[in-house]
Amino acid sequence: MLLPAELLRLADTVIDSLDLDSSQYLTDESLHKLHDVFPDSLILAALDLIDQRKVTESVTPWGFVEYEVLSSTATHIVYVGLPKTLMSSYCTCPAFNFTVLETGQSLMCKHVLATRLAIRLAFLFVISVDVTALSSQNENNN
Ligand SMILES: [Zn+2]
Repeated sequence: MLLPAELLRLADTVIDSLDLDSSQYLTDESLHKLHDVFPDSLILAALDLIDQRKVTESVTPWGFVEYEVLSSTATHIVYVGLPKTLMSSYCTCPAFNFTVLETGQSLMCKHVLATRLAIRLAFLFVISVDVTALSSQNENNN
């Protein structure tokens, strides 16, 4: 029986080892590895989000990267690669709060898994944040 922290490290290792075949599908081996650590429903939901191009990477001019995942009701912000925390990823959705943080039922929500997979498989929609609206605020800073 693995501890949650160990399971999360295993999940990280699995995601980092995934590969695509020549037709840009996940290889059978990659799918098998995913199924070892995540429930089918979570994998399918995450792949569906990627398929529908719901995962967006936003890069600000000062280089801060965040990810947004569109769901039917809201846009959730996903942070990955967080240092010095027990959890390497975080999502603003209610499911993450309940099933990951409160009850520990899941390692991650579908948005985090979709984002991690999209990064690994380079299926991101990359946009740069338009900061013209913010620039007037910064003009007064010396
Ligand atoms: Zn989420």
